[in-house]
Amino acid sequence: MNIILIGPPGVGKGTQAKFLVEAYNIPQISTGDMLRANVREATPLGTEAKKFMNAGQLVPDSVILGMMKSRFSEPDCDAGYILDGFPRTIPQAEGLEDLLNDMGQQIDSVLVLDVNHEEIIKRLSSRRSCKECDTVYNLLFDPTTSEGICDKCEGMLYQRDDDKPETIRQRLDVYTNQTSPLISFYTQKGLVKKINGAGKIDAVKKRMLSAL
Ligand SMILES: [Zn+2]
Repeated sequence: MNIILIGPPGVGKGTQAKFLVEAYNIPQISTGDMLRANVREATPLGTEAKKFMNAGQLVPDSVILGMMKSRFSEPDCDAGYILDGFPRTIPQAEGLEDLLNDMGQQIDSVLVLDVNHEEIIKRLSSRRSCKECDTVYNLLFDPTTSEGICDKCEGMLYQRDDDKPETIRQRLDVYTNQTSPLISFYTQKGLVKKINGAGKIDAVKKRMLSAL
């Protein structure tokens, strides 16, 4: 089962990916982790990537795809994998398709976690962090015992810039602009399964597993 997982920031994509890992016993492949591992181990592609990174440039798709090819060939990918954070663009999706064709593989499903943006904004902008110990609370689901004060260390709570509604809205706009062409690309291939990402983690998990 080769899966691409797409979802906006703040819908618990990481948590849902872990459920898929457990359910299908396949690894989650994050491009960022893969890139860092290649650089750390100084593989030929990692060394190549590092040149671009040091120059402050994006690592070319061809380098990333080369890393993917060797990652897909590792034994833990025998039963498939979950791609998270890749592809992000149509050229990357096309490159991935060519690579998989060469390897005699294909993408089986593109799962799109779908949540109303206003709901995400409401949820994320209700987060408050402790100034002292960085514990994160949520005014809606996980409030502190006394308002504005950390349960663990009695530090003051504040709203991080990342959790401000305007910042979240901006990130969601970027996400929509970036992913809508990809979603159309995979919809044309009949691979997209939209999952309602609203509500409890467990409910989303059930919907996701029954969609596959
Ligand atoms: Zn604290």
